[in-house]
Amino acid sequence: MKVPLLDLNAQYKPILNEIRTAIEELFLTHKYILGPQVKKLEDKISDYCNTTYAVGCASGTDALVLALKALEIEKGDEIITTPFTFFSTVSCIHRVGAKPIFVDIDPRTFNIDPSKIESSITSKTKALIIVHLFGQPAEMDRIIDIARKYNLRVIEDDAQGLGSKFDGKTAGSFGDIGTLSFFPSKNLGAMGDGGMCITNNETLYNKLHQLRIHGENPQYFHKWVGLNSRLDTIQAAVLLVKLPYLERWSKERQKNAEYYYKNMNDIPQIKLPYIHEKATSIYNQFTLIAEKRDDLLKHLKANNIGCAIYYPKPLHIQECFSYLGYKMGNMPIAEELADKVISIPVYPELTQIQQNYIIDTIRKFYN
Ligand SMILES: *Cc1c(COP(=O)(O)O)cnc(C)c1O
Repeated sequence: MKVPLLDLNAQYKPILNEIRTAIEELFLTHKYILGPQVKKLEDKISDYCNTTYAVGCASGTDALVLALKALEIEKGDEIITTPFTFFSTVSCIHRVGAKPIFVDIDPRTFNIDPSKIESSITSKTKALIIVHLFGQPAEMDRIIDIARKYNLRVIEDDAQGLGSKFDGKTAGSFGDIGTLSFFPSKNLGAMGDGGMCITNNETLYNKLHQLRIHGENPQYFHKWVGLNSRLDTIQAAVLLVKLPYLERWSKERQKNAEYYYKNMNDIPQIKLPYIHEKATSIYNQFTLIAEKRDDLLKHLKANNIGCAIYYPKPLHIQECFSYLGYKMGNMPIAEELADKVISIPVYPELTQIQQNYIIDTIRKFYN
């Protein structure tokens, strides 16, 4: 049996005709840049996330850069974030000339540990970038309390957490700006790159709007140096077709996760993902902590089971950030987990037969 980590064939098959029709409509209008589908999608996504506004852009990475620029983060500012995340969370800080300050993670949730944030705050700290890793929101109640106390801005990197909830409130709607990615493998993926910022703040919304078109307002008059970063109309058209299915897909991911919890919790060599009592995960990934992880990875691959390491090297010790002066040992929990985590298939179309095969294959490896 073959089980991919994500099955885009299975995802697209039932909606391919709808998508074809949506794309063909573009041949009648040729509004490829900021066509009406973009605004329509922005309205639907802000509804879905319970925010007032949304601004589409070219990628999740650009959404983070736009968010930092909108908050006027610049050279000399310090931004607190997690070392255990995708590269973009931190590269955006470097790109606006600010300095990333890393805070280690909670070993259970893999998200930033709120109890370690305050000791890293200095007079230069301007903002926090909080990641909702693998689909589980970070502890936003404690994080927002800290941000209020020290008057810090909060960006939520919600690339993996679209529609997840903490204490009943939607991820991405807690802070000043939430950022989304529509990279094809995200829970809501486009047929190419795409991203979005969400916010409840009208001033930030207007700024983000201008920043994505070179900071101009009106046309050819530039108050800021912005980016050229729009969500393509064609991607918005595809996403408008897919968005109505997202809730169902998330429920199916949750159902698949439940099946693992029920049928795989007796293997002593692996730990299943811990979900905080106030959090609802949308399981962008189902990530185990596994003994003999590298051998397990080989064993699963040899048995045609898709799996991956997110992430093999924490960001504080990446070569490109060596100028920051962090060393191995500075973020012990992130470093340990980088050697122990492995993500296995949890995508919505996964069948019970496939899940049983995955569970059996893992069981056999440890027996
Ligand atoms: C995917 C991802 C991004 C970047 O999104 P792109 O659309 O690929 O630029 C940023 N942060 C996290 C946590 C991600 O998973």
